[in-house]
Amino acid sequence: MTFQAGFTVAIDGPAAAGKGTVSKAVAAHFGFAHLDTGLLYRAVGARVLRGADPVEAARGLTPDDLGGKLRTPEVAQAASRVAVIPEVRAALVDFQRSFAARDGGAVLDGRDIGTVICPNAQVKLFVTASAEVRAERRFLELTGQGHDTTRAQVLEDVVARDRRDREREEAPLKPAEDAVTIDTSGMSIDEAVAAAVAAVEARRG
Ligand code: C5P
Repeated sequence: MTFQAGFTVAIDGPAAAGKGTVSKAVAAHFGFAHLDTGLLYRAVGARVLRGADPVEAARGLTPDDLGGKLRTPEVAQAASRVAVIPEVRAALVDFQRSFAARDGGAVLDGRDIGTVICPNAQVKLFVTASAEVRAERRFLELTGQGHDTTRAQVLEDVVARDRRDREREEAPLKPAEDAVTIDTSGMSIDEAVAAAVAAVEARRG
C-alpha cells in the first residue's frame, strides 16, 4: 500500500527525548524527507549570538545558516530564547508547511508540529522521556563530542529549556490531542523506532 501525496508525520517532544533519532529512522524506513525544525530556531539563535536582531535573522534565514555549528548547548539555549518571540515563529511557518506538503511524504520534528504547523498531519507522535534519562543521553552525546560539561549542568540546561518551551504563550510544547505518546525512558533505540514505525503503519492508506 502507498501513502497519499503530502503524507506528514509530526514528531514533537522535549529536548533529548530521542525525536531526532526516531525521525531519521522513520524517514529512512518509509523513504520520506526529514526536517529537523529545531535547526531553524538554532540557526536564528546562532545569528543572535553573533549580534543579529532575532526577527530579522528569522526573516532572512538562508540554507547557508543551517550548515554552521548549531548543536552546542549555548546555541540550544539561544534557540529556546528566540523561540518565544511570535514574529520569529511566524517567519518560519511557510517554510515548514511547504516542506510538509511535498509529494513523497515528510517527517518534521520539533515542539509544535502536530499542534500548530501541521494540525492535519496523518500521524502525530509525542516522543518523551524523564528529565534524568534525557539529561544522561545528552551528557553522553556532548562529552562524546569533546564538550567539557557535567551531568548536573546538562540536567539544569535541559530543565530550563523545557520550562521555557512549555510555558511560552505562543505554540508551547505539548502533545496534540490526537498524538500517540512514546515514552522512551526504558526503551532501546530499536524499540523506540519500532513503536514509531508501527504508529505510521497503522495510518497508512
Ligand atoms: O529540537 P532542538 O533541541 O534542536 O530545538 C532547539 C530549540 O528550538 C527548542 O528548545 C525550542 O525552543 C525551539 N523549537 C521550537 N519549535 C520547534 C523546534 C524547536 O520552539 N518546532
